[in-house]
Order: sequence, then structure tokens, then C-alpha cells
Amino acid sequence: MTHVLIVEDEAKIADVLRAYCERESFRVTVHRDGSAAVEWIAAEQPDFVVLDLMLPGKDGLSICREVRQFSAVPILMLTARVDEIDRLPGLELGADDYICKPFSPREVIARIRTILRRVNQAPGAPIESATANTLAYNTIAVDPERFTCTVSGQGIDLTPVELRILTQLLRMPGRVFSRDALIRVAYDDHRVVSDRTVDSHMKNLRRKISEAGGDAELIRSIYGVGYKIE
Ligand code: CA
Repeated sequence: MTHVLIVEDEAKIADVLRAYCERESFRVTVHRDGSAAVEWIAAEQPDFVVLDLMLPGKDGLSICREVRQFSAVPILMLTARVDEIDRLPGLELGADDYICKPFSPREVIARIRTILRRVNQAPGAPIESATANTLAYNTIAVDPERFTCTVSGQGIDLTPVELRILTQLLRMPGRVFSRDALIRVAYDDHRVVSDRTVDSHMKNLRRKISEAGGDAELIRSIYGVGYKIE
């Protein structure tokens, strides 16, 4: 039985989410503040975590960051409004997806199902070990060691920065990376570049993938958060 932890301080939202999850035959635990969430997750090892961003006790970003030290449990982050996300520090803390309030509970369930399906199908390789192998998604593949990229087996020319960004996305299909996080992997000299620079690399990547007959739409922009491949 899939055990879902919901960490949400607003009683109405927590109740609705619990009801929808139980309708899916999920076993549900609700925490109304963030103070005990990390320890609880470590002890109980739930199959899924729905995590509100703004919480009494400990906020969702801190919880996410701490949980990622020891667990790859799927996390769906419930965020505040989009304009509030823009003011938050990088959201590259390892949530599998983000959903903005207000949301429909139906949409939350759909996201949970999608993420669970993905996790159960293809347990992701740990980030550290993935560099030794070719990373592939759909028709797109990169070999980070040989610095090559293919679309449907046909080699395409990417700049080193484009290749690093694509490699990062391919390491965790479905996971959203903030522009800040992508800048850090793309430039090893810690230079300061603007978010727009990442957007223009993405534009070029999409163009090159599409010119080689690949599906450029696989690289998805998540408004206010960053990019993922899916
Ligand atoms: Ca809240």
C-alpha cells in the first residue's frame, strides 16, 4: 500500500488532500507543521511526500533539503503563488515536481500518479554514478565522458555549456532544475550569468534537437521555477 505523507498546515487543504488520496487507496499520514517531518520520514520511509512550502516549525525547503541527504522519496512541493516563487532562493533542492496554489486536488493526484509511475518504472541512477554511462531519454542520448550527444543515433554538435545542461536534465528526467542550478553545472568557473543566458542555451538546445528530428518539446520550461526533461 502506498504510504503518502502530507505536510500542510492549512486544515482545509490537508483534509481535501487526505480524502482524495484515500480515494486512491493510499495510506495517508498528515503533519500540520514541519517540525517533526524529517525525523518521521527517516523513521517511517513513506512512498511519497506532499510538502507545503510555508509551514510552521520548519519550512518546506529546509525539509526537502534535509530529506534529500538520506532519501530519494518522491516529493511534490505545494508552492505559494507564482510571483512568490520568483522571490524565493533557488528551488533546486530536489523536489520532483511543484504545484502552485490554488490547485485542484484532482491535479495533485494526477501528478502523484505520474511521479509514482516514473519512479516505479525507472529507479534513477544515483547522480554520482551516472557520469560513467550514457544517459538517454526518448531519442536523446549523451555520453558525458566522451562529450557527445546523439538524437536517434545521429550525432549533433553541442557547445560544452549546452552539453552540461542537457546532461544534468537527463540525469533525472522529470525533475525540475532551477536556472541557478543549471548555471552552476554549466559554468565551472563560477561566473555570474543571468537567467536569460540559460534561456538562450535552452532555445539553442531545442533548435538543435529539433533540427536533428528529435522532439524539442521534451525540454520543458516550468514557469517561475526552471527546466526539466520529460
Ligand atoms: Ca502553509
